[in-house]
Formats: sequence, structure tokens, C-alpha cells
Amino acid sequence: MALNADVLIVGGGIAGLSLASRLAGHCTVVLVEAEQELAYHASSRSARQLIPSYGPPEVQQLTDRTLELLRTAEVDHHLRLLTPRSFMLIGSEQDVAERSSGAMTAISHQEALSLCRQLRPEAFAAAGIDTTSVGLDSAALIAHHRQATLTAGATILTGAKVHSAQQLKNGWNVGAGAHAIHSTVLVNAAGAWADEVAVISGAETQGLRPYRRTAAVVGMSGELAPGTPMVAAADDSFYFRREGAGALISPCESVPSVPEDAQPVAADLEVLLQRITEATTLGITSIDRAWTGLRTSTKAGLPVVGFDPEAAGFFWLAGQGGYGFQTSSGIAELAAALILGEESTIPSLADPLRPTR
Ligand SMILES: Cc1cc2nc3c(=O)[nH]c(=O)nc-3n(C[C@H](O)[C@H](O)[C@H](O)COP(=O)(O)OP(=O)(O)OC[C@H]3O[C@@H](n4cnc5c(N)ncnc54)[C@H](O)[C@@H]3O)c2cc1C
Repeated sequence: MALNADVLIVGGGIAGLSLASRLAGHCTVVLVEAEQELAYHASSRSARQLIPSYGPPEVQQLTDRTLELLRTAEVDHHLRLLTPRSFMLIGSEQDVAERSSGAMTAISHQEALSLCRQLRPEAFAAAGIDTTSVGLDSAALIAHHRQATLTAGATILTGAKVHSAQQLKNGWNVGAGAHAIHSTVLVNAAGAWADEVAVISGAETQGLRPYRRTAAVVGMSGELAPGTPMVAAADDSFYFRREGAGALISPCESVPSVPEDAQPVAADLEVLLQRITEATTLGITSIDRAWTGLRTSTKAGLPVVGFDPEAAGFFWLAGQGGYGFQTSSGIAELAAALILGEESTIPSLADPLRPTR
């Protein structure tokens, strides 16, 4: 199929879909996704938690803005996307202090134990809580963006891997699967593959690094009470939270990887079970399912959002690391403003997120 678009978005994860639904109706949009289904990679493998106190100040600003936009979407479209779920940090005095900023406030050891009765008292010395943190129905958000994109007349093509991209005087000629697409702007929202898409397009790479992170849903002899916060070790050795009658747990590993369909390694899960057993009395009885995804970051640890300084019309939307959902609507709003040449809600963020040479 031959298509013409103002904006062609490469990548059907949360980043590409958030931007597509933001832009659709304002210009002609085509989104291409290599896999047969949308959100197959990182965007279907997250812990589905939005934590305003997590990450550097720029990420926290984007998270606050994303929460505002998601709350508005809930009202406007009669959606249930967010559920209150606090986020608690535990660890040594120093680790908790170093990780605490923004909405995170210190609480006593006793308070932490009363919020999660399964914590072993000797497993931590200090704690902090972010009561503004929420759980996200990520599948519902993806479905909402997909529907909003299609309803506004944009095109979504799956099974359409970008294999060639040629820069022209006035845009791009892109080959994606069996499709030939001409666009004025080419948006690179290809997650772990974003640097590969830059190479295909003849643009400089941004030094993006994918890192593995595993999670599992487990059965337990006990049960985390409803309202128990998500609990994370401040030294990044594990986190857990209630998931149905069981728990979702992660060893928080950050192991460099090539871009790939990452799969769990048994040794990571064994380490995780040992750490959780040392810190809690959860009594894990089974691993019901486990998965691994890639969190892709820049060296500076900030997302890269903006037009490439050399390749005209090539727009970066990558490097969201472990913040891809919690920053998604804020980043899409900023990206759409930059693409449409409009003023953004947080103009001060355009500079720190700008791609480098
Ligand atoms: C275990 C785990 C827990 C996490 N927990 C959280 C959390 O609680 N909160 C949070 O905010 N974030 C979390 N994250 C991070 C979040 O999942 C990611 O930041 C986010 O999903 C990245 O979205 P994306 O759209 O950039 O990438 P992806 O979802 O990977 O999408 C990129 C897409 O581009 C496609 N693509 C690549 N190359 C091409 C090509 N040549 N042509 C066409 N398409 C192409 C890929 O197939 C892929 O579908 C977690 C991540 C992991 C792994």
C-alpha cells in the first residue's frame, strides 16, 4: 500500500500510541508497528505503577503532567485508568534518604510495618512513602489510545517493520513491511530499537542502551491486604506489590541487552525469591508467570524528545527507561507541540530532553 502522511510514527508501544492519539485529527498520521500486535514489547511488560516521586526532576514534572492528563481522559471518556496505590521505599537510612524527593515523605519504622505486615522488622532501618502514587490499567490506556487514533482518522499498520527510510528534500520515503509511505515528519518511537531505526534512516544514534528487567506474578501462603502499598528496596534489590490474590515481584535487575524479545533467566528469579524471603514473610508458593522486558535509557537518564539536529524532519521519542507509562501523556503533549510548532505546557522541558549531536 502507498500512503502519504504529515507524520509517520515508528513504534506501536505506549510512546508511539500516546503521540498518535494526540496528533490524530490535527494532521495526517500513520503509525507502523513491526509486530503483529500493538504494545508487544516493553509496553506489555511493565509493573503498571505511576510514581510521582520517582526519577529526576524532569521526569517528575512529566509524571505530574501525565497524571493530570490521564485524570482528564478518565472523565472525558468515562474510563477507569488509575487506582490509588501508594509507593513505599525501605532500606538503610542513607539509601532511603538518597532516593527520597518530591512527593516522598519519611515515615517511622513502625508505620512502615503497619502498612505492610509482611515486612521483616530487621530487613530495613528507614522508610518513606509516596501517597500520590497510583496503579495504572495499562491495557485500558493502550486500547484508549488505539481507539482515539483510529476514530480521528489516523492509520495504524501492524506487521509493518521499517526496513528503509530515505531522506528527501521535503520529507521521508519509508518502506515498512509491504508498505511505501511518504511523510513530512518521521517519528522514532521504536523503544529498544530506536538507535537501529536511526541507522536505517541515516541519522546519528543517541547512545540508547536497553536494560533487562524481569517481573513475576507469584502465589503466596498469605495475602497482602487490600491497600498495601507497593514496596521497593531503596538499593534496587527488589520490589513487590499486591496482584489479585498473589503478588507481582521483581529483582529490579538492570542488565545491558541487545534489542530483542527478552525472556526471563531462571537464575534471576532464584535470586529474587531469596531476597523476598529474606525481607518478608510473604511465603511464596508458586511462580505463576514471569516475563522480562527492556527499559531503554540514554546516558543522561532522561528521555530524548525533539527534532534531530542534523536529519531534517527526524523526530526522537525514545529513552523513557523505567518511566515510559508515567511520563507518556506528558511526553506526547510536548512532542505534539514541537511537531505542530505550538507552545507546550511545560516549555522548560524542551531543552533538557532535546537530542544531542
Ligand atoms: C519489568 C518492567 C517494569 C516496568 N514498570 C514500569 C512502571 O511501573 N511504570 C512505568 O512508567 N514504566 C515501567 N516500565 C517501563 C515501560 O514499560 C517502558 O518505558 C515503556 O513501555 C516504553 O515504551 P515504548 O513505546 O518506548 O517502547 P516499546 O513498548 O518497546 O515499543 C516500541 C515498539 O517499536 C517497535 N519497533 C521497533 N523497531 C521497529 C521498526 N523498525 N519498525 C516498526 N516498529 C518497530 C517494537 O516492535 C515495539 O513494539 C517497566 C518496564 C519493565 C521492563
